Amino acid sequence: MPTLQCDAQTLDMLQQFYKPHLKETTPAHSIFSASYNGVTITAYKSGKVLFQGKNAEKEANQWQSISTVPTEKKNSSVLLPKGFENWAVIGSDEVGTGSYFGSLTVCAVFLDDALLSWAKHQGVKDSKQLNDDKIIALAKTLRERIPYVLLDVLPEKYNAVQPTMSQGEMKAKLHNDAIRKLLHKIKPIEPDAILIDQFELPKTYFNHIKDQALQIKERVYFATKGESHHLSVAAASIIARAKWLETLQTLSETIGTTLPSGAGDTVDAVAAKLIAQHGQDVLKKLAKWHFSNTKKALKLAQHQ
Ligand code: MG
Repeated sequence: MPTLQCDAQTLDMLQQFYKPHLKETTPAHSIFSASYNGVTITAYKSGKVLFQGKNAEKEANQWQSISTVPTEKKNSSVLLPKGFENWAVIGSDEVGTGSYFGSLTVCAVFLDDALLSWAKHQGVKDSKQLNDDKIIALAKTLRERIPYVLLDVLPEKYNAVQPTMSQGEMKAKLHNDAIRKLLHKIKPIEPDAILIDQFELPKTYFNHIKDQALQIKERVYFATKGESHHLSVAAASIIARAKWLETLQTLSETIGTTLPSGAGDTVDAVAAKLIAQHGQDVLKKLAKWHFSNTKKALKLAQHQ
């Protein structure tokens, strides 16, 4: 009988994956039991996961650690099916969450076999390895050819929503929305899987979208450094980043001041100058008001 031995994080991931197929009753000492594709999957508190049934071997075999991704604290393995990098996948990623000025941008992209080769040929890779000019040029090329959905939340909208919604919840809802719209767009084609560049635990993610009318839960995988596991996430990241830069540029032009990215001291200084020139409310149209930069800038502005 095929079994896996998993750590707590992996168990959580498996539980989220099989969530739509969970059984109501579970054996003693188990965390969950699911029935999927004619296989009963039972996870125990010990970390053992049992696969039983006709396709048990196949179901268990699809789970294998394809890479080990170093995080700040420890090496955490990402559990994705064998050959995942060649699957037809919707990948989604967001940009702008850590930057005071500018929007919050989410993009979902679909790459099938042919588009995967094409994207690779175009030079799609981790956007952190590409400079802004290259990202903008590449995004333009990608947008002409591949199916995508791009959501750009301007600061004004962000600030209107944020007091009653955490940034995590906002991101989760945007990802769900972008993926849902893209699934509709590519119909009748169905992706093999959906990969979200992980920004919170799967459990938290699904909790954040639980009130959405349409929740995309099937075949959803999460991975930190998602762009290294499927090119669709890398492409999504490139398109999102280019749009985010474009919006920052537009906002800069509107206010006649170059708005820096990030959330450091430079940002505080620019924000303080803007307060002195236009009053503090101007920041609500340009920046993420709830960041601590607002307080710092208000203090700086008082002393100018
Ligand atoms: Mg990301």
